[in-house]
Amino acid sequence: MNTAIRPKNITVNKQAGELVIDWPDRTCRYPLSHLREACPCVECRGGHENMGMANAPDNLLALTPARSYKLDADEPVSMVGNYALQFRWDDGHSTGIYTWEYLYHLCPPPQDG
Ligand SMILES: [Zn+2]
Repeated sequence: MNTAIRPKNITVNKQAGELVIDWPDRTCRYPLSHLREACPCVECRGGHENMGMANAPDNLLALTPARSYKLDADEPVSMVGNYALQFRWDDGHSTGIYTWEYLYHLCPPPQDG
């Protein structure tokens, strides 16, 4: 496991509703609603025992978002130290800390077309 992985660039494509991260070895496009559904915070995981990389979803795109989520207009994405991202969602939720390791793990496979 590469715990030293760092994104080279992070952008939010609001029109496509996705977060785009350029990793050293690939570019990953994360649909925002699925990313919200994969929120790693204790509340969304349903308890501390369900947190951590061992419980990270293996296929982000297989998750079924409860609804269509967007990022809040103000401060939608912020850095947490130098190791994670925190999102402010349009449902007011913002406690999830998405580490680089977690985001890299969640990278959806490239879509054809
Ligand atoms: Zn959460």
